Parts: sequence; structure tokens; C-alpha cells
Amino acid sequence: MDIPFLSFEKTNSIIKSEILQAFEDFFDKGWYVLGEKVKQFETEYASFNNVSDSVGVSNGLDALHIALRTLNIGPGDEVIVPSNTYIATVLAVSYVGATPVFAEPDIKTYNIDYNSIEKVITSKTKAIIPVHLYGQACEMDRIMAIADRHGLFVVEDNAQSQSASFKGKLTGSWGNINGTSFYPGKNLGALGDAGAITTNDPDLAHKARVLRNYGSEKKYYNDVIGYNMRLDECQAAFLTVKLKHLREWTKQRQQIASWYNLALNGIGDLVLPEVSEGATHVYHLYVIRTKQRDQLQKYLSDNGIGSLIHYPIPPHLQDAYKNLGFKKGSFPIAEEIADTCLSLPIWPGMAQDQVDTISKVIENFKF
Ligand SMILES: *Cc1c(COP(=O)(O)O)cnc(C)c1O
Repeated sequence: MDIPFLSFEKTNSIIKSEILQAFEDFFDKGWYVLGEKVKQFETEYASFNNVSDSVGVSNGLDALHIALRTLNIGPGDEVIVPSNTYIATVLAVSYVGATPVFAEPDIKTYNIDYNSIEKVITSKTKAIIPVHLYGQACEMDRIMAIADRHGLFVVEDNAQSQSASFKGKLTGSWGNINGTSFYPGKNLGALGDAGAITTNDPDLAHKARVLRNYGSEKKYYNDVIGYNMRLDECQAAFLTVKLKHLREWTKQRQQIASWYNLALNGIGDLVLPEVSEGATHVYHLYVIRTKQRDQLQKYLSDNGIGSLIHYPIPPHLQDAYKNLGFKKGSFPIAEEIADTCLSLPIWPGMAQDQVDTISKVIENFKF
């Protein structure tokens, strides 16, 4: 590949010496699970995200799972999720024994459509999980208003959107309790698996801390059936290093997206990302759409350019969720996005030349 889908080269070279130093500190300290580094990262991430509490956990899926547990959501309950999300959002609902209920996204922003939420609320609905997909903040004011009106909890899936905001308020600070992921390719990525919960409710944060650590507050005394879902001490140390760069890296992603927007505007039937009023987009992914998606992806690949599809099969059509009884046509907007979307290369430090090269190749494609 001349231009890969994702490269860590530029960001890694900036932080390499700091990361090695952080590893050495961690190694020498000899405290490898739930120590000072986790505490420090939690404090700094809570402050970055403008919330009272952050709880470091093993990954984004576990963050959502624990978040739902703190709200006592379980069998017999329904949780509304977007029909075009990554499978992890839906899995978290299944883990607590609740039923995922899909609501269609807006075809322009790809985020859950607040109009579609109201249509699927029943007497069993307990929570809504808005997903800030691809890095764009959902219209959180409307979603919070719906939740208030119906007495529902909100759990944001902030895995793709650290540092995005809606009407000036950060994603991950709107919901009752929210989950994020530090999977390496995320906007804030660890050097392995990691995740966090964010909340402004100290009681929920406390419950989450207990749940991630065997359901135990005092060693060898177990209050609830918890998990081993702790954030690794060394990942916390790495994340503290990387968090300092996140604002700059976000700006670079937005710059790269604006280069793409300019260069790709008006080509063929391409649909470029659209940002809704009041929202910011942190471009975890730069997603375009075209009816000739598969051909364009092959053409890019033939020209040495990486791309990916987020996501080719919506959750309701996955074999894992056959039991829900949906079929092709059940969620036409999610299916339309799955059939036409294509994510182009984007990473902090990507050069304008590379965007130009990709855009020229796309221009030469026979739409
Ligand atoms: C990555 C991701 C997750 C899961 O995070 P992991 O750390 O991989 O478990 C959940 N939801 C969304 C939208 C994601 O993109």
C-alpha cells in the first residue's frame, strides 16, 4: 500500500520518548494493577471531558456493559440503539440481558434520528444509547429532552468521538453515564485495549468502580457480582501521555477532512460528510458514500490506497442477532448506509499531498 488506511507513524514518533519514559516509571514502580497511573489518568480524563468522574476500564465494550449495570438495566428491559452502529453497542445491551431496540439514523449525519427514537419507545424502554458515529456529536439536546419526557436514562457511546461537542458541551458529558474506547485506532488510543466511563454522578461512578473490580469495595468482600474489567496500569500511563496531544491531533483530523471536502466536492455521485448545526465532528473516520462503493474501493486498492467499510453488515442482519427476527428491509436507512459507505484514510499527521493523491485517484474513477 502506498497510502495505508491508518498509520501511527507520525503520532508515535512524537510521543516515543515520553512513552518509553512512562513505561520505565511504571516498570520500576512495581505496582501493576490499579495504582497511581490509573488514578492519574482518571483524574485527567475526567477534567478533559468536563465531568466529575471517569472510571478506567478494560475496553469500550466493557465500559458500556458496566454503565448499563450501574443503571440496573436487565432482563425484560429495552434499550434503544441506532440501527447502524458498531456491534459493540448492541452487545453491551445483550450482556445485561436486556433487549436492543433499533432506531434508524439520519441519512445525512448517520447519527440516530431523534424522530425515530420516539417511535420505538414502549413501557419497557429504560435507556437510549446515542452513538456519536464516525466522530460527529449527536443532537444531544433533543435526545436528552426525549429521555426527560419519558423518564429514560441516556448512555452515550463516545468511542469514536472524544473531544467532539454539541452546542459547546462535550460528548461523554451529556448522558447519565457514558462509555468510551481507547482501542489503538480510536482518536485517543492506547497501545492495546482500554476504555473508560464518564459521568457527573458520583454514585454511578462508585458503582462502576466496584463492578470493574470483582464487585468488591473492600478486598475479599464482595457486594455484587462484578467483573475483572480494570484499566491496565501501563495503558493508563500511556494514555496520560497521549491525552496531552489529543486537542492538537483533533485539529489535524479536522484539517485533513476539510482538504478532502474541498478536493472531492462535486465528483460523481459522491456524498461527503455533513455536520449538523451545533455539532462538531472530530473525524474518527472520513466517510463518503457512492452507489458504486465496491468498485471504487477496488479501484483505490488497485492504486495502492487503503480504505475500509464502517460497517458492511448492520447489527440487525448479523447472524448473532437472528433471534430478533429482522430481515433485509427492516431498517432501510441503516442498510443504505452499509451498502454505500466508504471510509478514506485519515490520521493525525497525514499530509496534504496524500489527500491530493487519493482525491486525484477518485477523480479518475469512472462514476
Ligand atoms: C470501538 C467501539 C466500541 C468498542 O470499543 P472496544 O474498546 O473495541 O471494546 C464501541 N462502540 C463503538 C461505536 C466503537 O467504535
